[in-house]
Order: sequence, then C-alpha cells, then structure tokens
Amino acid sequence: MTSEARPVHFLLVDDLEENLLSLEGLLRRDGLLCLKARSGNEALELLLQYDVALGLLDVQMPDMDGFELAELMRGTERTRGVPIIFLTAGSADRQRRFRGYEAGAVDFLNKPIESDVLRSKAGVFFELHRQRQQIAAQRDELREADRRKDEFLATLAHELRNPLAPIRSGLEVLRAAPTAARTAQIHEMMDRQLSHLVRLIDDLLDVSRVSQGKIELRKEKVEVKEILNTAREASDPLIAAGNHTLALDVENGPIWLEADPTRLSQVVSNLLNNAAKYTPEGGKISLSAHAQGGEALISVSDNGVGIPSEMLPRVFDLFTQVNANLARAQGGLGIGLALVRRLVEMHGGVINAASDGPGKGSTFTVRLPMVAAEPKAGLGAVSSPAGSLSQNPLRILVIDDNIDVAQTVGWMLETIGHEYRLIHEGKRAVEAARAFRPDAVLLDIGMPDMDGYAVCEALRAESLLKNTVLIAQTGWGRDRDRSTSRQAGFDHHLVKPVSLEALEQLLSAIADNRVSYTKGHSG
Ligand code: ADP
Repeated sequence: MTSEARPVHFLLVDDLEENLLSLEGLLRRDGLLCLKARSGNEALELLLQYDVALGLLDVQMPDMDGFELAELMRGTERTRGVPIIFLTAGSADRQRRFRGYEAGAVDFLNKPIESDVLRSKAGVFFELHRQRQQIAAQRDELREADRRKDEFLATLAHELRNPLAPIRSGLEVLRAAPTAARTAQIHEMMDRQLSHLVRLIDDLLDVSRVSQGKIELRKEKVEVKEILNTAREASDPLIAAGNHTLALDVENGPIWLEADPTRLSQVVSNLLNNAAKYTPEGGKISLSAHAQGGEALISVSDNGVGIPSEMLPRVFDLFTQVNANLARAQGGLGIGLALVRRLVEMHGGVINAASDGPGKGSTFTVRLPMVAAEPKAGLGAVSSPAGSLSQNPLRILVIDDNIDVAQTVGWMLETIGHEYRLIHEGKRAVEAARAFRPDAVLLDIGMPDMDGYAVCEALRAESLLKNTVLIAQTGWGRDRDRSTSRQAGFDHHLVKPVSLEALEQLLSAIADNRVSYTKGHSG
C-alpha cells in the first residue's frame, strides 16, 4: 500500500537547538520525520504544511510559550486534534498542569527526559497515525471503486440501450412499410443487435463467475484449427459489418492443445471482435497460429486505432477503456480483455498486447502449452440445421407470465414442428398439464402468483406426469441458479433468451429419449 511509503511527522518545538537535536536523536525510527521549530510561530507555519502525528512542546520559550502555542492549535480546525506532550523543566505545579491539559495536552514529561519513557509514548502515537493513514488509504480505494462502479453502471446502461434503439426503430418500420427486401434487412439487423446484447450480458456474467473462480474448464484434446474456425464464425458478422478483410496464416501441421474449446474460441473471437471494433472501416485483420518451442502462438493483428504505450499494461484490467468517452459504433464494457486474460491463464497460458502507438494497429498474442499429437476418436453427433421440422413432434406446455415471451417461444416450437399450449399463471399449471399431457414443460421461474419452483414441485407430485420432462427457462444463469433448479426437480435449465438452435437441440434429445422407452400415455 502506498501509505507505507509516506513518512509520519512529529513536531518538536524548543527554543534551544541542542534540545531539538537530542530529541530528534532520541526519537529516531524508520518512517519518522521530525520537524523542528525554534519558536511558536515557526511551529505554526510547519503545522500549516504538514499533517502532524504528535507535537512535543517545550513549555518555557521566550516569545510564545508552549501553552499559548497549544491554545492556538486548539483554536484551528486543522490542528485541533494533534496530540501534544509538554516538556517542562522541573516538576510543574498542579495549576500549570491543569492549564496544559485545558490547552489540549495528552501528557507531561519532565526534563531531563527519561529516554525510554519518551520513546515508548511516542511509539504509540506513531503507530496510531500509521493506522489512520491506512484507513484513509482504504477509504480512498473504496471511493475510487465506488466511482468506477458508477461509471460502469452508466456505461452498462448506455451499452444495453444502444442495440435496443435500432431494434425498436426496425420494428416501427416493419409495422409501417414492410416490403420484402426491407423486412429481410431489418431481420438481419435485429439478429445482429440481439446477438450483441446477448454477448454483452454473457460477458458480464462470465466475468463475475471467473472472478469468483466459478468457471470450470471442460478440457479435451483439441486442434487449434478447430478453435480458430469456431471463433471466425462467431466474429464474421462484426468483421463483415466493418468491411474488413481477414487474412489467415495457420501452421500446416496440427497443433494440439488440452483445452476447453468453447472457452478458447471465446478468447480468439473476443480478440477478433476487438480488432473489428477498433479498426476503421475497410481494415486489415490477420489471424495466425504457429507452433514454437512447445507452445502454440495464436495472434490477432489489425491495422486499426492502436493503443498508446502507457495503456498497454492496463488494457487487460477490468473496466479499462482507452477512449471511454469516444462515441463508438459498437462499444463494450471494458470487460472483454479481462475475461480473455483470465481464461488464457486458466489454460496455463499468457497473453500479451503490442502496438506501435495510436493509429498504428495492435497485435494480441496468446501462448498456450501444446500437448503431444494424438487425434481424438469420433466426433459428437451432427445436428440438423436450425429451423427444420422435427421428425418426432412433442407436446409442450409453455408457462410464462410474460405473454410475449410465452408466445414467441410458442412460435419457435411451431417452427420446429412441435405442438404447444401456453399458460400465463403458475397456479393453472397442474390443471393444464392434466388436460394437455405434455411431453415437456417449459417453465418460467420468476412468476408473481406462484413461482417456477413451486409449480415444478406441484407437477412432480402428479403421477400422470411422471414421464414429463421439466425445463426451467429463466433469466438467471449462474451456477447457483442451475443447482437450485436441479434441486427443485427440473431436468434441464435454459437461460433466456433461448435460441432456436438450443431449443431444437434439447427437444430433439428429449424426443430421441422418449422413443427409447414406453410412455404411460400415447402422445
Ligand atoms: P471493450 O468492451 O471496451 O472493447 P475490452 O476489455 O475488450 O473492452 O478492451 C478494453 C480496451 O482496450 C478497449 O476499450 C479499447 O480501448 C482497447 N482495445 C482492445 N482491443 C483493441 C484493439 N484491437 N485495437 C485498439 N484498442 C483495443
């Protein structure tokens, strides 16, 4: 902490130079600085300049005596709290002592001074002051954290509102003049803006989970090309929107890593997105991967706005934005790189940022430990593209108090060939489920009349529904929320907004499962 480096000041006041010097010698210790005054006036001047931890005042001085000085100190806000020890020659009578205490003394010491006594008393004031300094430094840190939090909330509101504006305008245009070409353009725009919103919120949740150590990597043996491909796909829309070109320079042979492919693609895609965001239209972005001395080197370079050298070490800090005030087309929250660095470190790697300065582009390089080549056997099942009709239609009950959410989920279910019913009140769930006999229930958790956990419990109690799959559908996506819903009896947990693809995958898995056992009723 910086306060450790700041000296503690004692004020020594005596008209005799030799007394000052011997006092100073007596008190000497690390971190202590003695200010020496030969008169009351000199002392007052020093008090104006320094924050003093203790005043050691000689009582008998020619112009202004120690008591008068103490009274002046009492009368001023700045020096009122400075503790004072009077040094008197001979034993002071009771009346004089009384006057001294009134003037603010904490103690009297008689000359000749007993050095041990003085040293131990002074030591107490030294330590007290040190603690005060530390508390003040902590208070400043808290204030700074509070200021950054306020700034962050303002940025958050701004960034969340940004994508909402075109979505709303797009809707209005759709309502007023929906030509086919315009409709297609607007759908594309809405898709892009929504993906941006979802990404912001995902990053936000991830960074909080990462900083609490709650993200677990699902490591497997993966090839770097696989990771780069997924990352490119995710970043393509942003790169295309900026009219950038993306050059690839990837090692011919395979580079194997022991890594969580989703998280590592997230890292690379984050770097690609930044390259696209911080490069003026029509820029050049390159993505390269090479093996070097047992390490995989993945770099993302751009010829964009660059980073000033003094900011380079800080770009990975949470909430750091080089030009926070610049109006940016697609800004962020200053959390992407913090997340990226944590994820890279969790993989045993390091990340580094380089730039020749403003306007000169940037390069981010990730180094990760390689593992021996040994291709993994058999890839996972290949799913059909989103939006095709299910071969195995299910009956699905959707329960959500938000009518729009429920209806759009219904439309998605219809699009992929399932049958559905909607209800908007938790307390009607059991009755509706008895009548409809759903194969699966998509159930909102936060509902006013009866929450999703209670509904889940009520449905679980129905023997008619013992084969019904219960799916929580909620805005809460923390690990804690997932385990709560599992404990409440849910089979699956989907976080809103649920994409068509995710819904389709889950339901087709459920449909496959259903075929493999005999149901209590014909569906
Ligand atoms: P943000 O959400 O602001 O993009 P990041 O954590 O991803 O947050 O990045 C932090 C800051 O680092 C950005 O605000 C930007 O100023 C700077 N930065 C990141 N990538 C680049 C890049 N490729 N070129 C120039 N500046 C960049």
